[in-house]
Amino acid sequence: MEKGWLGLPYHTISEHYNQLFGEKVYKIPVTVVDDCPNRRGLKGMQTCVFCDVWGSAANAESLSMELRAQIEKYHGHIAQKYKAKAFLIYFQAYTNTFTKVSALRHNFDVALSYPWVKGFTVGTRPDCLSKSVFDLWNEYHEKSFVCVEMGVQSFFNDQLEFMRRGHTAEASIEAIHKIADNTKVDLGIHLIFGNPGETDETIVKTAEIVNTLPITNIKLHNMHVLKNTPLEEMYHKGEFTPIDRETYARRVELFLQHVSPRFAMHRLAAYSSRWDELVAPEWTKNKMGTHQFIIDQLRAKGSYQSQFFKAESVVELEEQKFLAKKAVFTPSSLV
Ligand code: SF4
Repeated sequence: MEKGWLGLPYHTISEHYNQLFGEKVYKIPVTVVDDCPNRRGLKGMQTCVFCDVWGSAANAESLSMELRAQIEKYHGHIAQKYKAKAFLIYFQAYTNTFTKVSALRHNFDVALSYPWVKGFTVGTRPDCLSKSVFDLWNEYHEKSFVCVEMGVQSFFNDQLEFMRRGHTAEASIEAIHKIADNTKVDLGIHLIFGNPGETDETIVKTAEIVNTLPITNIKLHNMHVLKNTPLEEMYHKGEFTPIDRETYARRVELFLQHVSPRFAMHRLAAYSSRWDELVAPEWTKNKMGTHQFIIDQLRAKGSYQSQFFKAESVVELEEQKFLAKKAVFTPSSLV
């Protein structure tokens, strides 16, 4: 009998990548655009309340660097720190499909010119998709791994309005199906928890909606307040209060318990890449501390992803059993 914890009580993105590539892959986040429909003010749209001037980029300096320079710099850091051998280039900041197809093609070619790059991930939003973008993704899918991460953020229109996303929940669902019907990309979504109007019930409903979608992976963020964002102003005026760490952990737990075991989870919480940019909540400063807190909460209660999900296929049942096993601690004395 094995002893101790058999891993994290959720389907991790590393397991997903391991299945796809047979090895651990690391993401190199890059910035190649500096625009999006909201920032451009199309159709009266406004910058999302939480978005900083860097368009949520991991590295602020990336905006002034050529793509090759970014890739080589961060590849050097990650390869040295983790002895990493395989990478995905993550076109992360702003809206990467809010540009010309020729520019996208150029960037994909640069990314794939490195032998250690296994593919790329493109960050986008529901209203920046077109047939030519789908055709391009399919073309690159033939020779490489292509993942798309869509900023959905919420399936509730009141929450989307609060965030000033400029798209509806229905538009996100339609876009997800369009991508799945027209391309073969690995599709993921981002969600933000901690919005006004959010309750345990809306979290469970979110999981139920997600369970119907043709996606493979999910990234969770907690809503945090960054300097020089519309949300900072609202926070100082008392119009927005971030949720506390216990409530956030409880919501992540609820979401995981109700979501299908087939989805691979990226990180479970957001953190500010630029620590001096964070206004609130204080607890989100400690990236590993927050992660560990959530894991401790899950383990303390024996909670795990898909715990309350009704598996309908043999594969789902097997995955559910595997996750249940990971949530059980076997003391050495019983070995
Ligand atoms: S979050 Fe994305 S869509 Fe919203 S303002 Fe920032 S870059 Fe634009």
